[in-house]
Amino acid sequence: MRMSQLFVPTLREVPAEAETISHQYLLRAGMIRRIAAGIYTYLPLAQRVLEKIEEIVREEMNKQGGQELKMPTLHPAELWQESSRWDAYGRELFRLRDRHERDYCLGPTHEEVITDLVRREVNSYRQLPLLLYQIQTKFRDEIRPRFGLMRGREFTMKDLYSFDRDQDGLDVSYQKMYDAYSAIFRRCALKFRVVEADTGAIGGTDSHEFIVVADTGEDEIIYCEACDYAANVERAVAALAGEEDTAEPLKDLKLASTPGMTSIDDVVSFLGTEPQRLLKTLVYLAIDGEAYKPVVVVLRGDREVNEIKLQNHLGCMHLALADAQTVEEITQAPVGFAGPVGLKDVRIIIDAEVPTVVNGICGANRADYHWINVNPQRDFPPAEIMDLRRVAAGDKCHFCGNPLKSDRGIEVGHIFKLGTKYSVAMDATFLDEAGRKKPMVMGCYGIGIPRTMAAAIEQNHDENGIIWPLSIAPYQVVIIPVNSKNAEHMELAEDLYTRMNRVGIEVVLDDRDERAGVKFNDADLIGFPLRLTLGPRSLKEGKVEIKDRATGKVTLVEIGEAVAVIKDRIEEMGKGWA
Ligand code: ATP
Ligand code: MG
Repeated sequence: MRMSQLFVPTLREVPAEAETISHQYLLRAGMIRRIAAGIYTYLPLAQRVLEKIEEIVREEMNKQGGQELKMPTLHPAELWQESSRWDAYGRELFRLRDRHERDYCLGPTHEEVITDLVRREVNSYRQLPLLLYQIQTKFRDEIRPRFGLMRGREFTMKDLYSFDRDQDGLDVSYQKMYDAYSAIFRRCALKFRVVEADTGAIGGTDSHEFIVVADTGEDEIIYCEACDYAANVERAVAALAGEEDTAEPLKDLKLASTPGMTSIDDVVSFLGTEPQRLLKTLVYLAIDGEAYKPVVVVLRGDREVNEIKLQNHLGCMHLALADAQTVEEITQAPVGFAGPVGLKDVRIIIDAEVPTVVNGICGANRADYHWINVNPQRDFPPAEIMDLRRVAAGDKCHFCGNPLKSDRGIEVGHIFKLGTKYSVAMDATFLDEAGRKKPMVMGCYGIGIPRTMAAAIEQNHDENGIIWPLSIAPYQVVIIPVNSKNAEHMELAEDLYTRMNRVGIEVVLDDRDERAGVKFNDADLIGFPLRLTLGPRSLKEGKVEIKDRATGKVTLVEIGEAVAVIKDRIEEMGKGWA
């Protein structure tokens, strides 16, 4: 391809709307343009990168026995009603109506459609297992589309669905996808972690996310370097702290005056204690449509509630902190003085760590008073105990006791054991060897293709632009003749260009009549892995310069050897990943 013809509208300025590096560089390198919130056109360079990622994904899916198909984007509401997700999916679902007033949605995911297909066509154990996938456009009306391609409302996903005879079969399919995903992200040269993921209230049994480590990531992951435990913070568990304190003798419950002390910090400094002694009491509302129920939640003053864990436990559709009026109705006291002691007629859930607190402090359900010397096992009303807390770096690992660490990251892939959730709801059954009817056991596995491209940029860039890993670079090489006015140099560049094309090197010839600086800047911004420069000085000695974008390393080679050297270099760069 010739740069003069390539449709790549690069920008010099950093676009104001782009907060993250990948968003900035995708815009600046002329790869994407926005037409509405979370909706983008992929320009030719981006299209090439996406196709390369898709090809890697396809190869690894096929290697594991996946078969590609393509399902429709437009889904009739009836299928979603069968699975109950027409309501449950909420406002993220794009809904529309046809001329006959029938309801449809734009597919945000395809469990319903694939389950419908398979229940019609598969009825014997002999036809299982089945691994079917597609690479296709998804639609999700995200509340906060942002960071360019990271969270779009229209995006390409590879989604595979596995159908097995039983749980053991599912375990095998799941492992295949686990391996395939690891291979895919390795081949894309991404540094990633596989973490345990939240499975939701009625979710399946097992789920992992593939997280590309990056500061701008929306996900937080917790991991232990000593024992390899790793989980999304939504799901992470940690060892209970506080057990060492239990030697302290229990003191008598006492009321303490705490005038105007409504925050943890106030109470801690006023009473001269530590936040871990405090029993923080919060009132939540478990909301299901119009109905809502208050729930009182208690955890240590130095901990935060993991609302995902709480919501999963409650099995409600939404969760919100109660308003001041509700808090007052339940505790008979203004906000800031709530506590579980003496509370009646309300569901109380306490974090698993709370019973280890000795001589703690909590609100007395009375304005300007707290209880001190509270001992939950002695003083609390009956309550449910569960792991409620949001784990943070520094907490101790539940499995080995070493301090946990945390990182931010981007979820690029997600694998999920669904079990029989959809097959039961939609009656997708088969006859086993003994002629018994059984529901198929399913799994689902997704990779966001544009998000993977953006994640690759977050991990591979410098202040001048993108540094594409070779395997997904839009082109492998750019040829830059420094002096485009020199006919001899241009002829030589043309010759190298032709020879590279002939041997299958993906090359762009920067044949524009531009200053060298402009060409170099664009080459760095676009991020070609290799740059071949024809500069007047080295040409005098019969040499050209090859520069490695990632390392900045420059080598001078004889003109006649340039193509061979580049070909070798490409092979070498590709080795680690394939
Ligand atoms: P998130 O928690 O980021 O919203 P999700 O759990 O909704 O993701 P899945 O339904 O598991 O995501 O989708 C599979 C994959 O599709 C994700 O791992 C991610 O790579 C990609 N993906 C999901 N939502 C988006 C989006 N709005 N824009 C771009 N890619 C997305
Ligand atoms: Mg989502």
